[in-house]
Amino acid sequence: MATVRKEWEEAQRLVVKIGSSLLADVKTGELKRDWLASLAADVAAIKADGKQVIIVSSGAIALGRKTLGLPRGALKLEDSQAAASVGQVDLAHAYEECFRSHGIVTAQVLLTLGDTEERRRYLNARSTMETLLRLGAVPVVNENDTVATSEIRYGDNDRLAARVASMMSCDCLVLLSDVQGFYTGIPGQDENAELLSEINDITPEIEGMAGDTGTELSRGGMVTKIEAAKIAVDAGTHMVIASGKVENPLALLANGGLCSWFFARTDPDASRKRWIAGALEPRGAVIVDDGAVRALKAGKSLLPAGVTAVEGTFDRGDAVVIRDSDGVELGRGLSAYSRQDAAEIIGYKSREILERLGYRGRDELIHRDDMALKKSIGNSD
Ligand code: GLU
Repeated sequence: MATVRKEWEEAQRLVVKIGSSLLADVKTGELKRDWLASLAADVAAIKADGKQVIIVSSGAIALGRKTLGLPRGALKLEDSQAAASVGQVDLAHAYEECFRSHGIVTAQVLLTLGDTEERRRYLNARSTMETLLRLGAVPVVNENDTVATSEIRYGDNDRLAARVASMMSCDCLVLLSDVQGFYTGIPGQDENAELLSEINDITPEIEGMAGDTGTELSRGGMVTKIEAAKIAVDAGTHMVIASGKVENPLALLANGGLCSWFFARTDPDASRKRWIAGALEPRGAVIVDDGAVRALKAGKSLLPAGVTAVEGTFDRGDAVVIRDSDGVELGRGLSAYSRQDAAEIIGYKSREILERLGYRGRDELIHRDDMALKKSIGNSD
């Protein structure tokens, strides 16, 4: 009996990506309701263990094309967008029904590439999903195919799921697919093809095994899965490819079923802090008083009350430098307010934000999760 991986056992927040062929019968386009019910039971068990689950689900196009009577085979972009907008309704309904029977609330979240790449939108999407998770709901994410044109779309949910995992600092990304894992060759065609159960490094050799980048679907979508693995492991998220062709696929995975793990070397919080500290060009600065310096050292968020001045031109979600009154850099963080709005609320209590700005924004100017302090200061990684 295979052992349960500690990466699975220790994961607190997971993304589970469901491929279209698991949810919809390829020939008839019919929804596989029994399978979805079994997945809902698995998710309920995981949640009962105190973990949080986000689902990234494909299937909108597969379901919608049947309803619209579109032909089989490749669809024109506008037809696939029409199919997605029809099928997404069925998909959301199906999740709602199957999860409700376990007392779980589902939430539809439709994202585009820009929502995960552009900082302001990224912060919005992130904070909505944080709220949903805090309230115990399961976000069911798909690409917003209706508005995602060819230049600005993911087009595949493997990479979307990896971006969501990184955006939400998840510990583990599960790609449920119609293959059992990552093979060294094409199973069925290459008699020496072997399943790799543990991948520590995504080497050029591994990438080569995924197949020709020109033919995305030639190896059961392995090219996009490797792309997803790169995003995930860089973000500190372990990724696992497992078969979803069985009922209760997550229970099987939990019990040590066949699969391929791609291991991350850092944890997601450390990766996110690194990204905030180094990868983003700061657009401005906030100067904080001594009380705020003490609060930051104690691991707290930065409240508007502790800020004495703002500099530069920044928007909500932009990175800013945090400085003390002597001009010493304490760290960096993502501002929850634009410079203009920040200037209106600094020095004031958070409960006065509504009155000052006319809307109720976040209590914190920079939330501690969105902050990377210098090592010498304290809570940085
Ligand atoms: N967003 C597409 C759909 O829901 C799926 C993309 C994919 O399967 O990778 O049908």
